Amino acid sequence: MNILGIESSCDDTSAAVLTAEGIKSNVIASQSIHLKFGGVVPELASRAHQKTITQTVNQALKEAELSLDEVDAVAVTQGPGLLGSLLVGTCFAKGLSLSRNIPLIGINHMDAHIYANFIDHSPEFPLVALTVSGGHTQLVHVQSAFEHEIIGQTRDDAAGEAFDKIGKLLGLPYPAGPHMDRLAKDGDPKFHKFPQALLQEGLDFSFSGLKTSVLYYLQDKEEDWIQEHMNDICASVSFAIAEVLVKKLKRAIKKTGVKTVLLAGGVSANSMLREKSEKMAREMGVQLFSPKISYCTDNAAMIAITGKMKAEAGQFDDLDMVPYASL
Ligand code: ATP
Ligand code: FE
Repeated sequence: MNILGIESSCDDTSAAVLTAEGIKSNVIASQSIHLKFGGVVPELASRAHQKTITQTVNQALKEAELSLDEVDAVAVTQGPGLLGSLLVGTCFAKGLSLSRNIPLIGINHMDAHIYANFIDHSPEFPLVALTVSGGHTQLVHVQSAFEHEIIGQTRDDAAGEAFDKIGKLLGLPYPAGPHMDRLAKDGDPKFHKFPQALLQEGLDFSFSGLKTSVLYYLQDKEEDWIQEHMNDICASVSFAIAEVLVKKLKRAIKKTGVKTVLLAGGVSANSMLREKSEKMAREMGVQLFSPKISYCTDNAAMIAITGKMKAEAGQFDDLDMVPYASL
C-alpha cells in the first residue's frame, strides 16, 4: 500500500511517501519567516503553507518515483495545531481525495509523534510513550494501537516550550532547543542547580518555575559573563529538564508495569534526554525506542506511518472531515 502523508500543523510544510519498502521520501519545507519574530506567527504560517504545499507534495512524489495514480491513500494531520495551518493541509488532501478518488485518513499529530517510532522499529504493546514537543509534554499509556490513556502531562509549559523560552532569555534563535542541546555538550550540567518541579505525587510535569528561576538567575549577571558561561548554563538547564522527564518516565514504568517505552516529539532529539533514558531503561530492564532525529520534530513520514496503521485497521475519513486546533 502506497501512502502519501501531509503535515502542516505548525510552521513546517511536509510531505512523505510510504510504500511497502518503507519511507521513500520525507520532504520538509521549514518556514524561516518566523525567525525575526522569535516565535511562530499563525497568519504568516498558513500563507507560507499555501505557497509551498504543492511543490512540497510534488517533490515528495518525485523523490519516491511515484505518480499520484499509484497513491492508495492520503493521510493528513487533522489536529492539534494552528487552525489556519491545518486548514491548508486538510483542504489540499481533500482536493486530492476528491479529484483522484483516493481514500482520505485524518491523523492526530500527537499519535503520529508516537508512531514515528514504528517507521524503523516494531515496539511491542503495551507501552508507555514520553511525548515531549513544542506544545505537549505527556506520558501516554498505549495498551494497543490507537488505544491510549494520558497518565501524566504538563500543568503549564511544555518541555520544548521551556527550552525555547529559556533559550530566548539567553539570546538564542528560535527554536532554541537544538541550539541549547549543541551548546550543552561542552558545558557542565552541575554548574548551577536549577529547580526540578517533581510535584512529588503523580506523573504530571511543570516547567514554568524553571523558566522563572533562569530569568532571576540571569538578572544580576553581566552580558559578558553570560556569554562566557553559555555552555554551562545550557548544560545545567538541559540537566534539570532531562532529569525530571526521566524520573517521571521511570515512575510511569513502575506504575504501569510495561516492558517497552518510547520517546517521541521534538525534544526526544535531545542528547542528554536520550542518554539518561537509555541508562534508566538499561537499569529497569525495559526496551527503549526513539525515532531517528529527522522523525522527532514535525515531519510527514510520521503522518504516513500512522496513516498506514489506520488504513490497516480500516479507519478512513469522509470529505466532511474537519481540522481541530485542540484535537
Ligand atoms: P506539538 O507537536 O506539541 O504540536 P510542535 O509540533 O511545535 O508541537 P515538535 O516539532 O514536535 O513540536 O518539536 C519542536 C520542539 O522541539 C521545539 O520546542 C524545539 O526547541 C524542540 N527541540 C528540537 N530539537 C531539540 C533538541 N535537540 N533538544 C531540545 N529540544 C529540541
Ligand atoms: Fe509536533
